[in-house]
Amino acid sequence: MRKWILAVLAVAVIISGCAKKEAFVKADVNHVKAQLAKLAPVELGANVDRLPPRKQELVRKLVQASRLMDEIFLRQVYSKNLEIRNWLQRSKNPEDKIFLEYFTIMFGPFDRLDDDKPFIGTEPKPLGANYYPEDMTKEAFFRWVKEHPEDKEAFESNFTIIRRQNGRLVAIPYSQAYRELLEPAAELLREAATLAENASLKRYLETRAQAFLSNDYFESDMAWMDLDDPDIEVVIGPYEVYEDRLLSYKAAFESFVTLVDQAESAKLARVAQYLNAMEKNLPIPDKFKNLNRGSSSPIKVVNEVFTAGDTKAGIQTTAFNLPNDERVREAKGSKKVLLKNVAEAKFEKCWRPIVARVLAEDQLPLTRFDAYFNHTLMHEVSHGLGPGIVRLPDGSETTVSKELKETYPTIEEAKADVLGIYNIIFLADQGFFSPASLDTTFVTYLGGMFRSIRFGVQEAHGMANLIEFNYLTEKGAFQVDPKTGRFRVVLEKMRPAIRDLAHDILMLQATLDYQGAVKFIERYGKMPAALQRALDSLADLPVDIRPVYTIERELGK
Ligand code: ZN
Repeated sequence: MRKWILAVLAVAVIISGCAKKEAFVKADVNHVKAQLAKLAPVELGANVDRLPPRKQELVRKLVQASRLMDEIFLRQVYSKNLEIRNWLQRSKNPEDKIFLEYFTIMFGPFDRLDDDKPFIGTEPKPLGANYYPEDMTKEAFFRWVKEHPEDKEAFESNFTIIRRQNGRLVAIPYSQAYRELLEPAAELLREAATLAENASLKRYLETRAQAFLSNDYFESDMAWMDLDDPDIEVVIGPYEVYEDRLLSYKAAFESFVTLVDQAESAKLARVAQYLNAMEKNLPIPDKFKNLNRGSSSPIKVVNEVFTAGDTKAGIQTTAFNLPNDERVREAKGSKKVLLKNVAEAKFEKCWRPIVARVLAEDQLPLTRFDAYFNHTLMHEVSHGLGPGIVRLPDGSETTVSKELKETYPTIEEAKADVLGIYNIIFLADQGFFSPASLDTTFVTYLGGMFRSIRFGVQEAHGMANLIEFNYLTEKGAFQVDPKTGRFRVVLEKMRPAIRDLAHDILMLQATLDYQGAVKFIERYGKMPAALQRALDSLADLPVDIRPVYTIERELGK
């Protein structure tokens, strides 16, 4: 028996010895297949065809420039990415097609759906991605900056990478580090600019092309805030800093090429006329209402034609709020962009399969994408309602966010969700939405909670949903059938329950009641067994979509 084991071990050693010929160790291919299956493929596109030919050509230039953002981001994520990609592309092993597919989605060998665990190679993902020398610590960075104050600005810049040269740390501007990709990208943006008839679009593309070469993004960020082409909404360049988990300084390249959704934009413009009426209608005493709140960030609804880089890696974005440069936000605010076709794809591919398992069957026909999207819109609008800046008895001013501290993100998200429903009810009473749409609003709202909570309650949106779920269940507005384990909305109880919840949350904010917020989250933030059972039954369903862009198919790879 022992001999047999030894023989097996010897064979294993020989096999692993052979495997060393492979440049990188790989995870089990079946594991990678299972991970791929968590992302439902879906074709995404907007009606580029409806644009005049000149604009279509412009969009194609933007897509070509965006593909260069893909290439830059790939270099930003990991120092070995090009080597691994080459190796996978040349491999004759059919399994490597699967590895390459997942590598392409993840922009590297680290699984973004599984805490960045490597599925190719054994090295953990460097905290600072490929923005810093992999062995450089935070302390070494700050020591250098302290000892070389003249380097501070360049080192902390969002738009430099840090490298070690001759024993010294140096900051290299993106314009230099990625010049071979940024120069052609700038050229494509300039070509796109010559096709643009809208002055604001032309200006954004020209200034952004300049920024790629000068490394100064301020002017083009300002130009983006003014962008008002009736058809095209585009953002391209280095923006978010999440990929830099070492210091959160370095911005990742990405791009969104989108077309404005005219019907939704018109709807939003009409909703804006009710802003004051909605504030007046809030279920709190008048003295807490915020009737001279300045206009908050504008909201635009668009459909995605193509995305690239950071935003495309792993989980797909359904909304973004840019720019991040505080100087621009101070001068011009920020812009919120909602990606409607992405939301719809997620609704069909990820949302529907969930509710099909957990909602009462007779209420399933009441789930609708338009109800879901209207709630998303009204959620965003509702962030701009209610107490924001509050005057203290001594005359000084403070903000709700400062006073509610770490409870604020959860309380604010719950507020936006509940006011979203509360305001849909109000607008239906005004004749803006049809009264019959309220039932679909309520059932679709409950359905959406399962997806949010499934993503995790350690994050503000998930926790907010759990709180809403428990509160509304306590009020009898949601019920679970003990036999089937399925949930339903008790439709006639929704109006008063939503009003009560909106009141309670708004009063926590209006009275700056930090202790109250802590208690509220404690009381309603617990996971009920019936809900946990429902969530457990969803384990095999896709967690997100994997977009295939119509335009990319047309342009060829
Ligand atoms: Zn929100």
